[in-house]
Parts: sequence; structure tokens; C-alpha cells
Amino acid sequence: MKILMAASEAVPFAKTGGLADVVSALSLALAKLGHEVRIALPRYYSIDRGQLTQIEGPLGVPMGGREEWSAIYTTELPGSIKKNPVQVYFIDHEQFFGRDGIYGVPWEPDFLDNPRRFTFLSRAVFQLCRKLNWYPDVLHAHDWPTALVPVFLKYREKSEGFVNTVSALTIHNLGYQGIYNKDNFFYTNLGWDVFYNTGFDDWNMMNLLKAGLNSADKINTVSPNYARETQTQTHGFRLDGVLRYRSVDYTGILNGIDTEVWNPQSDKFIPANYSAGDMSGKAKVKAVLQKEFGLPVEPDIPLVGMVTRLTEQKGVGEVFGPAYGSAWSICRDMRIQFVLLGSGEAWCENEIKSLSSRLPNFKAQIGYSEKISHLIEAGSDFFLMPSRYEPSGLNQMYSLTYGTLPIVRNTGGLADTVQNFNQETGAGTGFMFDDLTPSAIYNTVGWAVWAYYNKRSQIEAMRLRGMKQNFSWESSAQQYIAMYEQALNTDALRQ
Ligand code: ADP
Repeated sequence: MKILMAASEAVPFAKTGGLADVVSALSLALAKLGHEVRIALPRYYSIDRGQLTQIEGPLGVPMGGREEWSAIYTTELPGSIKKNPVQVYFIDHEQFFGRDGIYGVPWEPDFLDNPRRFTFLSRAVFQLCRKLNWYPDVLHAHDWPTALVPVFLKYREKSEGFVNTVSALTIHNLGYQGIYNKDNFFYTNLGWDVFYNTGFDDWNMMNLLKAGLNSADKINTVSPNYARETQTQTHGFRLDGVLRYRSVDYTGILNGIDTEVWNPQSDKFIPANYSAGDMSGKAKVKAVLQKEFGLPVEPDIPLVGMVTRLTEQKGVGEVFGPAYGSAWSICRDMRIQFVLLGSGEAWCENEIKSLSSRLPNFKAQIGYSEKISHLIEAGSDFFLMPSRYEPSGLNQMYSLTYGTLPIVRNTGGLADTVQNFNQETGAGTGFMFDDLTPSAIYNTVGWAVWAYYNKRSQIEAMRLRGMKQNFSWESSAQQYIAMYEQALNTDALRQ
């Protein structure tokens, strides 16, 4: 199958969130399965043209009654296999992408011309294929920045080379939809009938994601449970109706994890490696982790870890909120140690600093560190993740892989990956709670700590059970292929 990923981010070139990891990891996994995968990205200012190869000749993109001209550069995606590399194409347009920031900068968080920049990117994808004389079977778009790709395919481009092409759109975060003044619709070169018939219209504004969700042949999000949740008013960010309407074509496919980077048997960041067959290394990592955070090195005290962006989505208010957060009473009442690595909202960073100065068993590092995040995942006994919503979540999958028991809220991808402890039978891989309240977090951490002291053999068995789960990209990639195939079959029947 020929697949073109149209995206605004892909590691290692540009990243603000999980979308960037998925685009690259999924592309590599699809290529390993033998498919021909290419990626189209903007050439942001920070991407050094000196490392890329230029493709001869300009690329013209019709937009708003004129032609926008750009250059094309290319390189292989790092990590590609030799016999079937993933080729990345960069669309270089100085006015749109020759600046700092992907979507914005601190003093202009959402660039005023974003609708124009990403309309350009989405349309340029088609011109790129023409220029390369390479027409994909599947055009796969990601989130609002490329949500116009399925719209253009359906209403403008489904002819000549694209006659048999189908589209897929993945939702990585429904909270961002690309809602702009409808004056910007002008840049799409589409008619107003399309605006009103395809769901661009959102209370007299233009909603790019909504238009994409109504136009794509298949849509998906990054876990089965989040696919269900987003069809409810509570989690639908006002698009639950659209998603229910498209429910036949809407699925959830769990993200995979990079098992070369996140593997306790070969992890380069941790002081000792270990496996389900020999867990002795985990105790060594725990000791180093305790030392790193200035805690007493005690093997038999339960250690709770957290690695997170400090934002509302992650439930940090209920853990660290001044006066009402549960961390204070958890550390005061329970014989545990608690370590945190994170950065984000200023109030939360301040509260965490204040807590760590008052509680001897609570230690935190504010910042971003790949190494410390591996140390916490491997060295902790429990990993706390009380997310408000969680489309997929990676940290709980890392925890399971490292024999660290996740304590999670029963939501989104967390519910798909963790099974709740059953203290009668010993079944399960972690500890779960339903309501996002400080007392639910307190009680569930308390339950886990109780089990640590009183049901030790069950705890050890749970660790091994978690470590045996398979979160590789290969099985996710196979599900994407199944989704593409369905879209192609339906399209063939329609013609
Ligand atoms: P989200 O993408 O919503 O932040 P995920 O659990 O899907 O949540 O992924 C978070 C990723 O970011 C994980 O790989 C996690 O280890 C990493 N991460 C978050 N904060 C930090 C930090 N302060 N230092 C290192 N890694 C971090």
C-alpha cells in the first residue's frame, strides 16, 4: 500500500506533543510491514536545510485566487530500514513557516495566520504528489492542522491520480479543533456550498477539525475507550454529535510505545537492567532513584513515582492543589516515598516546591529529563496517573513494561491498558478509580500501599503480568492497515 502521512509535526524534526511521536513511529512500523510510506511536513525555520536534499523546481499551490510558491526538500526518516526507507518531504514556504514556533510563540500562542498556513499545507500535499508523480492509496491526516486534506480530497481533488485514493484522519487531542473566523475560508478556494454542507460551519466560525471529521473516509482516535468517550457530551468537546454520526467509520487504535527506547532489559538510562525472569536489577534502580532524589535508601518502603506535564489534563490539581490536593495527606499519613518529575503551570510548580520543603518523604525535580523519567519508571513501585482525560497515554504503558504498577483514573486509554486489582483473586495489573477527586486518589494510593505491605506476593505477580503485555507498534500498525483496507474496499464499491 502507498501511504502519505500529512502532518504538522514528526519526530525528530518538529514536536510539541504525542502526535509527533505517532506520525514517525507509525510510519516506521508500516514500512517494516512492507508498505511504502512517505511523510509531508512543513519546513519549519528550525529544520536545517543543509541536512536535506532539494528537489528541482518550484511547487505552486492555488490559494485564495493566487498561486503560493514553495520549494521541496527531502530526507529519509531516521530509524528507517535500508530496504524500505520512509521518505520525508518538507514544504518550504518562507512567509508561512520561516519563523520560530510551530503553531505560535509565547507572545502569540496561536499565530493569526494559522488558518492560512495550514490550509496551504493541506493543499500543498496534493501538488507534492503531482510533482513527484506518486499517488498514494491512502492520505492520512492528523489533527486539525491537516484536517483539510480529506476535505480537499473529497470536494476538489478526487480525479486523475487521486481517483482511487482514500483518506483517514486521526484525532490525537480533541481539545484543539482549529476554530477561526470564516473569512479565512477564502483561502481554501472551495465554494460556500461546501462550507455549509460539510460541517465547516461552527456557530458562524470555521472549524477545520469538524470539516475533516465529516469528510474523511475513516476516522480514528488513539484508544478504543477514548473513541467511545468522545461520543459522549462529557468528553466530546462539542463534537460528540459529529462523532456519533460518523460512528460506523470511527474506531480507536491504541498507540504503541518505542520498545527499543523503553525496555528494562536494554535501557541505557538505568543503572541496572532486568526482566520478568530476573527482577533483581529493579531493586538496584530503586536504590539509585532514592539516592538521586535525596531519600533514605530503603528497599521495603513503597515508592510512588510521577512523570507528567503539570497541566489540568493530568489531574494535577487534585494531587497538588493548595489546601485540597491529596499529596499532602498521602505523604503525611502513609509510610511511603513519593517522587515527581514534571514541568508546566507556574502555580503547580510552586506548590510542589512548597510541599517538598515541608514533607520529608516527598521529593521533586522541576524540569524535563529523559534520564530521570526512565529512572522513575523503572525504580518506582507504583506510578500515579490521575488524568482528567487521556486519549492514549504512554506513561502507564512504560510503567507496565517496567514492572511498576500504575495507579490510574478509569478513563481513556488508561482504561484500555490497565486492569484493576482484584484482592480476592489477585488478578489485575494496577489500581484504578473512577472519580477525579482528591479523596479517590488518596483512597486508591492507600489501597495500593496496603496491598504492598499485606499482599506482597500478589503485588509481585501483578508486576510480572504487566511486563508480559505487548504494546509494540507492530500490532497498532496492523490495525491501521485494516482501517485503510476497509476504506479502500468501501470506496471501490462506491465507484
Ligand atoms: P502527554 O503526551 O499527554 O503528555 P503521555 O503519557 O502520552 O502524555 O506522554 C507523555 C510523555 O512525555 C512520556 O514519554 C513522558 O515520559 C514524557 N514526559 C512528560 N513530562 C516529562 C518530563 N518532565 N521529563 C521527561 N519526560 C517527560
